[in-house]
Amino acid sequence: MKSAAFQYSRPETVAEAVALLTAAEGSAMPISGGQSLLILMALRMTMIDRLVDISRLPELRELRDDRSDVFIGASTTHAMIEDGKIPDPSTGLMSRVASRIAYRAIRNLGTIGGSMALADPSADWPACLIALDAEVSIAGPDGQRWEKAEDFVSGAYETILLPGEIVLGFRIARRQSMRWGTAKVSRKSGAFADSMAVFVEAAGDGLPRAALTGTTSHARILPRVGKYAQNRSILDPGDLRAAILDDLAEIVPDADAYQLRCHVATVSRAITDARAS
Ligand SMILES: Cc1cc2nc3c(=O)[nH]c(=O)nc-3n(C[C@H](O)[C@H](O)[C@H](O)COP(=O)(O)OP(=O)(O)OC[C@H]3O[C@@H](n4cnc5c(N)ncnc54)[C@H](O)[C@@H]3O)c2cc1C
Repeated sequence: MKSAAFQYSRPETVAEAVALLTAAEGSAMPISGGQSLLILMALRMTMIDRLVDISRLPELRELRDDRSDVFIGASTTHAMIEDGKIPDPSTGLMSRVASRIAYRAIRNLGTIGGSMALADPSADWPACLIALDAEVSIAGPDGQRWEKAEDFVSGAYETILLPGEIVLGFRIARRQSMRWGTAKVSRKSGAFADSMAVFVEAAGDGLPRAALTGTTSHARILPRVGKYAQNRSILDPGDLRAAILDDLAEIVPDADAYQLRCHVATVSRAITDARAS
């Protein structure tokens, strides 16, 4: 199937892109790597009157290392992160996460900003960025704002983006003595996750953060798991499982036995990996 006809614009600046999205007659959407949107359009699950191509905007390709934190532009591809072509505040976590997204051909074009904006309930970046407590930079008709990654994705394919707004990029703090682990279960290599967990802890940084994706809704922090792991160098497998199940009861109350098993396995493995590093 082919997509319905649409208008195409390639603005030169963020201001121009926002103006095009805001002023468009009918529906308008930004397109970045096109790895999800073009498929949805070809299947006619998404019908758009105007595509605004933001993939080459210099502001969205920025990579900045400000010592205490790093800014990663929204148009940074999964492959660039996988290949270590970004300043890395995560000591390798982001490269590992990127390497497990889809296939290399998709990673060459798909972007971290597009993945967050799409907010697929099984996408990898939302879990990684909320575990890292990242902030999202957003530009729109009313100017620029920063939001916590944890608040940015609000449901399955839902974000807090308002009409005309685009994601500029992500700010991630550098942490001292950071340890991390991640685990993903999918039915075949390159497929979206049935479950994917990220665990991050750092010296003097408050609660460890365990995040889970592959839920029916959106990536979430597991607060009881973080609290249980805090200040405990040795974790009791039974107590850890109980903490995970408590969080799952709240976050995925409708999970079946297979899903629960996957989630318990990925969260436990992510923590074990972090502690072994
Ligand atoms: C076969 C296959 C397997 C995949 N497997 C995985 C997987 O295992 N894990 C995973 O996480 N992902 C997976 N993906 C998704 C892939 O990572 C996509 O690249 C990603 O979800 C979208 O990024 P994109 O840059 O291509 O966005 P696009 O397709 O260009 O856009 C996606 C959506 O985001 C919006 N958008 C894009 N950029 C911005 C921005 N800067 N600001 C605001 N809105 C924006 C668009 O309007 C659109 O609604 C898979 C995709 C395919 C086709």
